[in-house]
Amino acid sequence: MVKRTTGPEIERLIQLLAKLPGLGPRSARRAALHLIKNRERLLHPLMVAMEDAHDKVTVCSLCGNVDTIDPCTLCTDPRRDRSVICVVEDVGDLWALERANAWNGLYHVLGGTLSAIEGIRPEDLSIGQLIERAADEQVQEIVLAVNATIEGQTTAHYIIERLKGLNVATSRLAHGVPVGGELDYLDEGTITQAMKARRPF
Ligand code: ZN
Repeated sequence: MVKRTTGPEIERLIQLLAKLPGLGPRSARRAALHLIKNRERLLHPLMVAMEDAHDKVTVCSLCGNVDTIDPCTLCTDPRRDRSVICVVEDVGDLWALERANAWNGLYHVLGGTLSAIEGIRPEDLSIGQLIERAADEQVQEIVLAVNATIEGQTTAHYIIERLKGLNVATSRLAHGVPVGGELDYLDEGTITQAMKARRPF
């Protein structure tokens, strides 16, 4: 018999918080207690924000970014350079590039990487849509900002093969992205440097 120290509602809150990345059971308990103690100032606004996000979040049908409008804020921004597309694995990588102010073109979120072990095939990612976008004559360069993991590089090579024959330049981020390093973990200066010094694939 498990000893109970709190009601099931609070237990449930702790259990859900513990599922968040970076939060173990211990920090989840601390977070829950902090929320409960700051019921009006924090718990209630968080609840409203979560409900809002839940109701309004959508995936951009052009680039795969998450936003509350489709096409997304980035795709519809007239100040962005529409001749260059930066390919990333995940929305977290896009956010990292945006945070660093490293990119003023468009994006394409693949939704993962090819992986024989996990059975992730090209058709499971948005590669087909990327090839379609690259075929637009307005597009002049595709920057592959995939992670320096084996899966990331395999995916990059596959995309390069598929892009052959299209009138579009391809490049990849320069050194500075550590092997196995995910963009999201890099500091902003490193990301900006890696983008500025990008080189032909
Ligand atoms: Zn978009």
